[in-house]
Amino acid sequence: MSEILAIEGGEKTVKNKFSWPQFDEREVEAVAAVVRSGQWGNPDCSGAVAAFEKEFADYCGSKYAVSCVNGSVTLRLSLIACGVRPGDEVIVPPYTFIATASTVIEANCVPVFVDIDPETYNLDPKEIEKAITPKTKVIVPVHFAGQACDMDAIMDIAKRHNLRVIEDAAHAHGAEYKGRKLGSIGDVGSFSFQSSKNLTSGEGGIVVTNDKELYKMINSLRNVGRIEGGQWYDHYNAGCNYRITQMQAVLLSEQLKRLEQQTIIRDRNGIYLNELLSGIEGITPLSRGHGETRHCYHLYLFKYDKSKFNDLPKLKFVEMLAAEGVPCFRGYPHPLYKQPLFQQKNFMCYAIPEEVDYSQVYCPVAEKACSEEAVWILQHAMLGTRTDMESFAEAILKIQRHQLINV
Ligand SMILES: *Cc1c(COP(=O)(O)O)cnc(C)c1O
Repeated sequence: MSEILAIEGGEKTVKNKFSWPQFDEREVEAVAAVVRSGQWGNPDCSGAVAAFEKEFADYCGSKYAVSCVNGSVTLRLSLIACGVRPGDEVIVPPYTFIATASTVIEANCVPVFVDIDPETYNLDPKEIEKAITPKTKVIVPVHFAGQACDMDAIMDIAKRHNLRVIEDAAHAHGAEYKGRKLGSIGDVGSFSFQSSKNLTSGEGGIVVTNDKELYKMINSLRNVGRIEGGQWYDHYNAGCNYRITQMQAVLLSEQLKRLEQQTIIRDRNGIYLNELLSGIEGITPLSRGHGETRHCYHLYLFKYDKSKFNDLPKLKFVEMLAAEGVPCFRGYPHPLYKQPLFQQKNFMCYAIPEEVDYSQVYCPVAEKACSEEAVWILQHAMLGTRTDMESFAEAILKIQRHQLINV
């Protein structure tokens, strides 16, 4: 008798349930204490906000940190602080969340999409070099899924062309490249604390930097243009109110205490799952060994080859896998440049040059990842046990057996 897939009413392969965020009474108490104190806001970003910024900067091995309402605003403020002018070009990957590119528009600049490396799904340094023009000012490498970009190559290109590097580390809390924390290697590192991220307060973001001038400008822009040592009513720069609350700050301080151990678990499980999935025909985990001394698996990615599954389309496979109890997702349906924002040039008040045209942009590696190849397992599932990892592999094998029996 053949086994029945969960999607057809059979038993789920994965027995465990996974939840996120993880917390206990320590988080509840920390937030309750702020509520009781009545000091919910923090107009000068001192107190719990400053304390968390110091903790996070130390954790990353950076000198400075500035917290913000989210990890999109942090990208935009970083671009502005880097001194971009209207019409400047910023190199971004097409396989990422919209904010990586939309914040470039919001800084009056032009996102230039450069394809990803098929081995890592991160910006391909060889392609970066080809895309540089006299207008290029910044490179925004995204450490996709928590895997380190080729930072030596990217920093070398930036140095030779006098460009700034803003690491989009929204997926990369606690991950490392050659022993250094991601986010601490470029001119600025930008993190998100949105609810799905590996460190979260529901919403929020932070930048880290070693550059005092960048720190001072981002700090000012986040706090209505005030400057350190200035008066409450002195506004020097075109900033806004992007401050976080005391409740967010204490929550983040508690969650940060858990991050190291959680990251170690995800990394260990990722290595084990690589081993398990490498043995399945038609499944190829994204390869490691590109300088990441620690991967934080905000997402665990593998490539799916439908020809080894009797031509079962990726979407159907992902649906079956989810039904078996694996927290998984088909990922981005299209590379970013396909979004109406770019194709229809919905640039509104932003000063994007008329001739900018995304209709001809085509990044083959990103296209293939989106349409047929990439499958994501979500980070909270990577906090499971070794047995959970074995059950993920078993779920894939079950679908494969089912497909091949019915050839
Ligand atoms: C989540 C995310 C951001 C920032 O998102 P916010 O929701 O604004 O905090 C930026 N870049 C990437 C790649 C992301 O995944």
